[in-house]
Amino acid sequence: MNHTESSYMYHMLGISEEVRIYGQKIEDMLRERFREFDETAEYNQLKVLNAMQENRVSEACFHYASGYGYNDMGRDTLESVYASAFHTEAALVRPQITCGTHALCVALSANLRPGDELLSPAGKPYDTLEEVIGIRPSKGSLSEYGVTYRQVDLLKDGEFDYPSIEKALNERTKLVTIQRSKGYQTRPSFSVKKIGELIAFIKERRPDVICMVDNCYGEFVERIEPSDAGADMIVGSLIKNPGGGLAPIGGYIAGKEELIENCASRLTSPGLGKEVGASLGVMQSFYQGFFLAPSVVCGALKGAVFAANIYENLGFSVVPDGRESRHDIIQAVTLGSPEGVVAFCKGIQAAAPVDSYVTPEPWAMPGYDSDVIMAAGAFVQGSSIELSADGPIKHPYAVYFQGGLTWNHAKFGILKSLQSLIDDDVLPIERLRGL
Ligand SMILES: *Cc1c(COP(=O)(O)O)cnc(C)c1O
Repeated sequence: MNHTESSYMYHMLGISEEVRIYGQKIEDMLRERFREFDETAEYNQLKVLNAMQENRVSEACFHYASGYGYNDMGRDTLESVYASAFHTEAALVRPQITCGTHALCVALSANLRPGDELLSPAGKPYDTLEEVIGIRPSKGSLSEYGVTYRQVDLLKDGEFDYPSIEKALNERTKLVTIQRSKGYQTRPSFSVKKIGELIAFIKERRPDVICMVDNCYGEFVERIEPSDAGADMIVGSLIKNPGGGLAPIGGYIAGKEELIENCASRLTSPGLGKEVGASLGVMQSFYQGFFLAPSVVCGALKGAVFAANIYENLGFSVVPDGRESRHDIIQAVTLGSPEGVVAFCKGIQAAAPVDSYVTPEPWAMPGYDSDVIMAAGAFVQGSSIELSADGPIKHPYAVYFQGGLTWNHAKFGILKSLQSLIDDDVLPIERLRGL
């Protein structure tokens, strides 16, 4: 074996020839898909670059600001860059927003008042929002402050239940929350176009209702964002897509000026708003991460489609399937057994640049009703734009896979997961020979 061949390196890193060649065949089938992702990334790269140039990003934007952070130019300019790229009036992009859940919590609590009603017209929101809203009782929830909640579930085919949504809208409805990504549910993720249709339906009936989109995992997957399709606010985490893998913390809210002002008052304090909140030296990573994000998301999408096709061709059920269009970076693979879930996650962990030598094990995580196994060897703790996977140890024994800072690493991680299934006798190697 020639030491400068990739096949040699795969061998060194524990990938057998059969697995490598099977992966190569799958990759060869995906050339056209990958070209489409590259074209979207090209468009989004130019969109971000244009936003940076328009707002005259300069070296001074990366300077360290401390204390109150008055006149923190790096922070203020970055917020203008986000607003330009997402075509909104304003944005709040801060390291003081600790995560995606916090960003969503700020956006909701800043714009709802006692007596108002929050409506989710697309079924149950992300797990961590249950306690924010008070679906599961929790200290400080919206429910404790007298904000009520109403939910309209999706129809069996995953479509919006328009007649029920119409009925659920009432004079107290103040804000509608729509989650773009399926998260860890089995419904499909929504395209921006589809979200736009839902928003148009709501606005026709109640033009004054605020439409917010939980944009987590969706940024830069398409050429447009929900803010281009009528959303008043979009919200996300910087340790997912828009941080490009470089942001060490943070969240963003982008939208109408007045709503963002409300968010700033809630995040810092009434009267202080956007004026305080020092950026403490993280600005370069925020800018650079946002600049890289279209490419990083492209790599993650290639990984997701590669995983879908690798496992679909072996007879596993995958969501989305190998050919569907993509609206987020999450790939679900149903392995059908606890051993399968564990072996898959062990493979992802063993592929990591950090903590590759540890073996993940299922444990009883707070907030979940079964043991969960998580694989992550990330530079930033919990970062799920980096190669990661997790699976609840319960029927139907599915894992949720996402991320990869580069396509090459995502590919390697998926091959490693497959190798692990074979090495642990979950999958007979003969199955690879069917292709
Ligand atoms: C990840 C995620 C969240 C919460 O973000 P955290 O950073 O984990 O708090 C909310 N909604 C969706 C759809 C997500 O994917």
